[in-house]
Amino acid sequence: MVKVALDAGHGMNTPGKRTPDGEREWSFNSKVVTAATKYLNEYDNVTVIRLDDPTGKTDISLTKRTNKANSESADILISYHHNANTGQWGTWTGTETYHYPGSSSGYALASKIHPAIVGAMVLRDRGIKSENFHMLRESKMPAILIEGGFMDSTIDIVKLRDSNVLDRAGRALADALAAHFGLKKKSKSKVESTSGVHVVKKGDTLWGISQKYNTTVAVLKSLNKISGDLIVPGQKLKLPSNSKKAATKPSLKVNAKVKVKKSAKKYATGENIPNWVKGKKYTIQQIKADRVLLKEIMSWVYKKDVE
Ligand SMILES: [Zn+2]
Repeated sequence: MVKVALDAGHGMNTPGKRTPDGEREWSFNSKVVTAATKYLNEYDNVTVIRLDDPTGKTDISLTKRTNKANSESADILISYHHNANTGQWGTWTGTETYHYPGSSSGYALASKIHPAIVGAMVLRDRGIKSENFHMLRESKMPAILIEGGFMDSTIDIVKLRDSNVLDRAGRALADALAAHFGLKKKSKSKVESTSGVHVVKKGDTLWGISQKYNTTVAVLKSLNKISGDLIVPGQKLKLPSNSKKAATKPSLKVNAKVKVKKSAKKYATGENIPNWVKGKKYTIQQIKADRVLLKEIMSWVYKKDVE
């Protein structure tokens, strides 16, 4: 059993730790940690030990936090924070991850997790750094402290106020930890038995439904005891237990999500596409003949370079 100690930095009412508009750092941190816990629960053989007060009411002392991780023999410790620079709005930006100075296990953990968080936040990559922080120094297991973005940045705050982005960061953290420990997803039998029905909509055909679920018309007909080809809206069709919704190819529509291909080289405006942009999903904001404007990176990318 892998034991992961997760720590949302501070408490709801910790003095100072807030945006220039008064939003609390803990609430941003907690959203990521809560999401990461939810997604880690999709894996077998892992437990989460939460070090802060999940209600945010109490700011648990740093010593209590590391004592808990140590006494429960956590395998690793992740302390999740959001940065501040001056406490006034500015345009500093980015994600950074810390390990204890000279800790090779801390560095190794950071090098697995940090790129995933950068990929989820889609902010500047400020890199992996080392610092003599309590959470890193007093914990006996490999430990890292993540600063997801700046609370006092007019750039980063847009991401911090977007629950989808913080949820995505939590998922990225969970999936990167799962990869680090070689965890396997729990069996999906429950999910399949509840999703094994298709409710017929107007315009549906047996052929169309068979394609959608990677099956055949013959299988659908025998499973549902249909002799002809007639199906009616509202009718519930059983699906074969191994059917899975076929992955639909993303189409180039406004608001659709597309991935920038790893092979992409230059933006449609001529600049080089940095590596951290590639292989990640973005939202199409605008479409022109040969290019699309991707919202999160505010950049025009050739249609041929997205998938
Ligand atoms: Zn903090």
